[in-house]
Amino acid sequence: MSTRARTYDAQVLRREQLSDHFVRVVLGGDGPAGFASTGIPDEWVGLVVPGQFQSRYYTVRSWDPAAGGAGELTLDIVVHEVGLVTEWARLAGDSIVGQTVTVSEPKGSFALPQDAGWLLLVGDLTALPAMARIAETSALPTRLWVEAPDPVEGYLPEGTDVRWSTPPGDGASSLAQVVEGIDWPEGDGYFWMAGESSQMRAIRKHLMREVRLPSTAYDVMGYWRGGAVRQPRAVDPGPIYRAGKAAGKSDAEIWADFDQAASDQAGEQ
Ligand SMILES: Cc1cc2nc3c(=O)[nH]c(=O)nc-3n(C[C@H](O)[C@H](O)[C@H](O)COP(=O)(O)OP(=O)(O)OC[C@H]3O[C@@H](n4cnc5c(N)ncnc54)[C@H](O)[C@@H]3O)c2cc1C
Repeated sequence: MSTRARTYDAQVLRREQLSDHFVRVVLGGDGPAGFASTGIPDEWVGLVVPGQFQSRYYTVRSWDPAAGGAGELTLDIVVHEVGLVTEWARLAGDSIVGQTVTVSEPKGSFALPQDAGWLLLVGDLTALPAMARIAETSALPTRLWVEAPDPVEGYLPEGTDVRWSTPPGDGASSLAQVVEGIDWPEGDGYFWMAGESSQMRAIRKHLMREVRLPSTAYDVMGYWRGGAVRQPRAVDPGPIYRAGKAAGKSDAEIWADFDQAASDQAGEQ
């Protein structure tokens, strides 16, 4: 039996600029029929955009199974400097509308303990879709700290208790400092946080050593890695993927072709 996660092809129905650095992409068509939300508010899917076969993770901002016939899946994408998805999402105007992308089955991580009396959510712009969904569904007193180049007006539910801060630079984050300044509520609660990976590592240490939260009382996830210098891509996987698919090859065979092409290229340099 295959353990491969199910995937869904979907068409881009709409693209909307939410702020200078944030783009909404609404997916639909017949492809998502059968897509089932986990109901976990930070659920995410793997997204493969045209011409690529590596996926990147995006939070399901919303899934409306009744919209447009087979349902509409909304993803909100941070537009940063370079990257497979960011460069696609940045394409001007409606040029990506009508294109086909692939998404995987959703998975979630948020696990609120039954006795939680409060909720604290911290994250950068990549975590804003999850924080918004959690805030929309939470009945607990909830406080948010969001690090974003500019506030995204009207994105969070009205009346949300939120503090906005700006990142120290492009591809950088100082959320660890924000968390060190938190005045922790009394009693038991739940702390959810996501953002740049090295910040998340620092925060896990802080939660364990200083705040002394039990591991069931927090969920801290690295969503992206800052500081990595992008290597020029030696071999473009897009044409290899398309040729492999046209020849009816499996993903494993296409990966083998890609590895062979990369090693041939390395041998020539
Ligand atoms: C569970 C989960 C849920 C996520 N949900 C969302 C979401 O809803 N919306 C969203 O936008 N992102 C989300 N992310 C983060 C997203 O997957 C990464 O930012 C991803 O690397 C973006 O892919 P890319 O193709 O644009 O860039 P990549 O090709 O992966 O990276 C290229 C370069 O860009 C840098 N980079 C990557 N992301 C950023 C960034 N945000 N800011 C600055 N530099 C960056 C990397 O360091 C790398 O050097 C989520 C991640 C996870 C694990």
